Amino acid sequence: MKVPFLDLTRTVARLQPELDRRWRGILDTTSFILGRELKEFEQAFADYLGVDACAGLANGTDALILPLRVLGVKPGDEVLVPAFSFFATAEAVALVGGTPIFVDVDPETLNISPQDAVARITDRTVGMIGVHLYGRPFDVDAICRVCGRHGLWLMEDAAQAHGARWRGKRVGGFGRIAAWSFYPTKNLGGFGDGGAVTGNEPVLVEKTRRLGNHGQAERYTHLEIGTNSRLDTLQAAVLNCRLALLDEDNARRRSIAARYAERFAGVGDLRLPPDRPEVESVYHQFTLRTERRDDLLAHLGKSGIGASVHYPSPLHHQPAFAERFANSPMPDLPVATAAGREVLCLPIFPELTDDEVDAVADAVVGFFG
Ligand SMILES: *Cc1c(COP(=O)(O)O)cnc(C)c1O
Repeated sequence: MKVPFLDLTRTVARLQPELDRRWRGILDTTSFILGRELKEFEQAFADYLGVDACAGLANGTDALILPLRVLGVKPGDEVLVPAFSFFATAEAVALVGGTPIFVDVDPETLNISPQDAVARITDRTVGMIGVHLYGRPFDVDAICRVCGRHGLWLMEDAAQAHGARWRGKRVGGFGRIAAWSFYPTKNLGGFGDGGAVTGNEPVLVEKTRRLGNHGQAERYTHLEIGTNSRLDTLQAAVLNCRLALLDEDNARRRSIAARYAERFAGVGDLRLPPDRPEVESVYHQFTLRTERRDDLLAHLGKSGIGASVHYPSPLHHQPAFAERFANSPMPDLPVATAAGREVLCLPIFPELTDDEVDAVADAVVGFFG
């Protein structure tokens, strides 16, 4: 049996009738920019998360960049970021002129390590971006304590964690502001690019929205140099359809993860994501770790099983940052570096069938013999 890593045609099919109705309405009114579906989504997503404010933006990368500008990050400012994440987390800091300071990750969760973060704070450190990697919240209590003690702001990169909870509360309201991506593969994904910021400081969220709309306070009055970064009305309609299904979809992801975990207990040198009582993961990815990662990947490829490596390289090894470390030693980030060699993500999407999950598990277990 062939199993795809992700098959969005199944998602499209599930949404079709409702999406047809919503898209038809947009075509009829031609409110393509800042339309009613966008307002509806912003309110619904804020309510879902239990936060005070939400502003749609064009993509998740802008949802990191624009609030960094609002928070006033300037050249010379250092911002702590996990060394193991999607590139955009660090890219955003560099783009606004700040210096991303790479922090090692926790050996169990692969989320930003509070202890290592403390060790890298200097008098130039202004804030921290925590990433809820793979849909699993970082240690919110410890990270908030570090930020509080050292006077740093906290931004959540929640691009992989739509609906995830820490001590029963959904992520997206723990820091000053949270960045979301609705890239098609995310748990809450559009059928194109999309993003948003959320938080409990409406002024900060509204300033971010304004930057994404050319700094306009009202039409043709530009208070500052912004950019064009708005969440498209057609995408907002997709998100309205998918938000209604999100809890059900995340529950299905968790049940697939449990099925995998059961099959993989004690197999080879496999290390599985931990289950901590304070965390409810939404399993954006199901990530294994093994020293034989590359051989397992090749084996799955030959068996027709989709698999993917998120991410093969830690951020401090990216060519884009090579110049940073040309005249200074590369920071020592052993856990992030090992993770790049060891992680492997298996298919985990709501429409995956039990037979497909079993086929994936059989192939993995078969590899270890
Ligand atoms: C997807 C993602 C982003 C970027 O989002 P885009 O919408 O693709 O710009 C940022 N951070 C993390 C952790 C992501 O997974």
